[in-house]
Amino acid sequence: MTTNQVLDELRAALPAKVVITDPALLADRITDVSGVKASDSPLALLRFTKTDQVAPAMRIAAAHAVQVVPQGSLSGLAGAGSAVDGALLFDLSQLNKILLIDDVEQVAVVEPGVIVADLQDAVLRAGLFYPRDPASVKVASIGGTIATNAGGVRAVKYGVTRDWVRSLEVVLADGAEISTRPRTIKSVAGYDLTSLIVGSEGTLGIVTQITVSLLPEPGPGRAVTGVFASVADALEAADAIVGGATRPSSLELLDAGVLAALRTYGFTDFPEQAEAWLFAAPDERGDDEGTLASFKAAMATSGALDIQQANSSEETAALMAARRAFQPATRSLRGGSYNGDVCVPRTRLRELCERIPLIAQKHGALIATGGHAGDGNLHPVVMYAPQDDAQVRAAELAQTELLELATELEGTVTGEHGVGLEKPPALDAQLGETVRELQRRIKHALDPQGILNPGKKI
Ligand SMILES: Cc1cc2nc3c(=O)[nH]c(=O)nc-3n(C[C@H](O)[C@H](O)[C@H](O)COP(=O)(O)OP(=O)(O)OC[C@H]3O[C@@H](n4cnc5c(N)ncnc54)[C@H](O)[C@@H]3O)c2cc1C
Repeated sequence: MTTNQVLDELRAALPAKVVITDPALLADRITDVSGVKASDSPLALLRFTKTDQVAPAMRIAAAHAVQVVPQGSLSGLAGAGSAVDGALLFDLSQLNKILLIDDVEQVAVVEPGVIVADLQDAVLRAGLFYPRDPASVKVASIGGTIATNAGGVRAVKYGVTRDWVRSLEVVLADGAEISTRPRTIKSVAGYDLTSLIVGSEGTLGIVTQITVSLLPEPGPGRAVTGVFASVADALEAADAIVGGATRPSSLELLDAGVLAALRTYGFTDFPEQAEAWLFAAPDERGDDEGTLASFKAAMATSGALDIQQANSSEETAALMAARRAFQPATRSLRGGSYNGDVCVPRTRLRELCERIPLIAQKHGALIATGGHAGDGNLHPVVMYAPQDDAQVRAAELAQTELLELATELEGTVTGEHGVGLEKPPALDAQLGETVRELQRRIKHALDPQGILNPGKKI
């Protein structure tokens, strides 16, 4: 096989504009936001304009054993969508039609490139709600969120992406097309292939159509924020809030390092004395006054220095805008970062937060931590200047130790961002050899040539 032969076959099977070899256009699709790079030289970019182009392209790739990297918006933080040498980059971002919103079944059927926020807005106009809400909601494609089983700020109440996927249409590694299940609420016919594909980071199949479950629209979001003299105080308040009568839809924590980065990034409202900031939002319909009062009481009992209430969805959105800027703000501080994504049982959060600064101190690294206090998933971001070798080395050592710490605390090295190129070495300690081997066998069963997103996930 020559690469020209593959390109000729692709050009014969697909519209001319789909097959792109212009190096300038390829350069934009080399890494995701993490910047973790495996290659500078993919074979070509296939920017699909119709879902029925994906299977024929996959069949050509399979016939020549050419590797394929599925890509959505490339907002991933683990290198899962980064290019691989000699691979075809399957760009699914232009497949962005919302095909159906069914208010009786309460489902939506969409193509994989639909931006999550666009789906949320569209279903809201029908009085419905798609509760998945990664902080990257305005850029992430729904296909990418399915492939990474994205979590986000509402997981404490609504779980993760997998909980909202009814059915998937998938192109397999040999180009065969399947539907994983009917769109019924219940189905236990055969193994649960939907769950297998969700979170598989493009290594088991390419998602070309998605049916998600919806809920009735929730109440208008109001929120309470508290400023604390320590992360421990904020976590005590978080425990009381989660243990209360009404589950918050978001319960987010930022430490002093994140607040400092946010101030530099333009969010200047955080008090200087704050060592921790907690954001708690209910979203029930009707009168939420009692719930907001209980959140405030929990914060006051835990020694909050200052408590504020956002009284409109606009005020809440402004607070959430600061939270959503966590990742770019920390990254911009030094120019480079490891975006940690550890998740521990909630009962181990305090120990996690106590030991992160010790790891920073030990290696002389700069770490800022924030994330989802409601579900145990925190993002310790290790910042470094890429041109400073000492900082890079310190960050690598700190990142490795953070992953070990997650496993030691009976948690996971990645709660929602995925394994990508970054974390496969950390899986041995967490999963053990028997599970690792079982996972390799699953991969082999679905992709015997190993051509789908190689080097990622496992
Ligand atoms: C500022 C910021 C905040 C973030 N906040 C969160 C957060 O709160 N929670 C969270 O979970 N993540 C978060 N992320 C990470 C990222 O946005 C998510 O992982 C998101 O799901 C990636 O979607 P994407 O379209 O960008 O996918 P990409 O980055 O393009 O790809 C991600 C993975 O999905 C695969 N893939 C993409 N489309 C398909 C498809 N159709 N079929 C098969 N495989 C496919 C790729 O091969 C890759 O393995 C954040 C990122 C940023 C930059």
